[in-house]
Amino acid sequence: MRFLEKLFQFISSQVLPSACIVCEHHQQNSICKYCLESLDADSLLNYECCYQCGINLNTLELEEQRCEQCSIRPPYFDETYCLDRYEGALQHAIHQLKYQKRLAYAHGLANAWNHIFSNQLKKIRANYLLPVPLSTQKLSARGFNQSWEIARRITCNPSIRKLPHAIKRHHHEFQQAGGKLASRNLAIQGVFYVDDHFIELLRDQSIIIFDDVMTSGATLNEIARVLKDNGVSHVTNWVLLRTAKVPHV
Ligand SMILES: [Zn+2]
Ligand SMILES: [Zn+2]
Repeated sequence: MRFLEKLFQFISSQVLPSACIVCEHHQQNSICKYCLESLDADSLLNYECCYQCGINLNTLELEEQRCEQCSIRPPYFDETYCLDRYEGALQHAIHQLKYQKRLAYAHGLANAWNHIFSNQLKKIRANYLLPVPLSTQKLSARGFNQSWEIARRITCNPSIRKLPHAIKRHHHEFQQAGGKLASRNLAIQGVFYVDDHFIELLRDQSIIIFDDVMTSGATLNEIARVLKDNGVSHVTNWVLLRTAKVPHV
């Protein structure tokens, strides 16, 4: 199946012109070299960020390499790596993928990740990579899980096994956008669980969680809490786009 998919992608890339997911000019690749270059030059990777939550650090936080919020109330996850800011060049592409259901954008976003980020992440040792899940209801409404559609296309160390179904999500009618951090933390409690078939497999393992957008961190924190409750030893977040800080309390 993967072979057929790759063959189809190769044939379409040779026969059909693609539009760059950022500037929308037609050329050979899903993201053009000019947009890749400017993304590379301006991405979050070029800034000092909190090792734990990936947020930009202010000068007082530089020595610890950790933001004040993580120092005061450490999250359950151990590390976070983010490609770019939410307000950056890839925001349009992620909206096209999520809200217009244009699956081709997942290919372009993964392409951007692979060109800019994969080399830097090669050093990271982990056993499994899991996408943030959608509830069954959300999945059937959208037709795909955008985090998995990007995650399955990213290049990572071959020893890291990708598991799309190890964490599950209950359907929950709360509004993610907006709101204070404390209320988000409360709203997300009890939403995630580890599928029974994977509990033994994940015990004492090091896990990477892939998310398309990290906002308050409440979702990733709750996933990390559930994983650690189930005996996972280390949780690292890989995130495509990171928003700025949200107000605490
Ligand atoms: Zn472009
Ligand atoms: Zn932090």
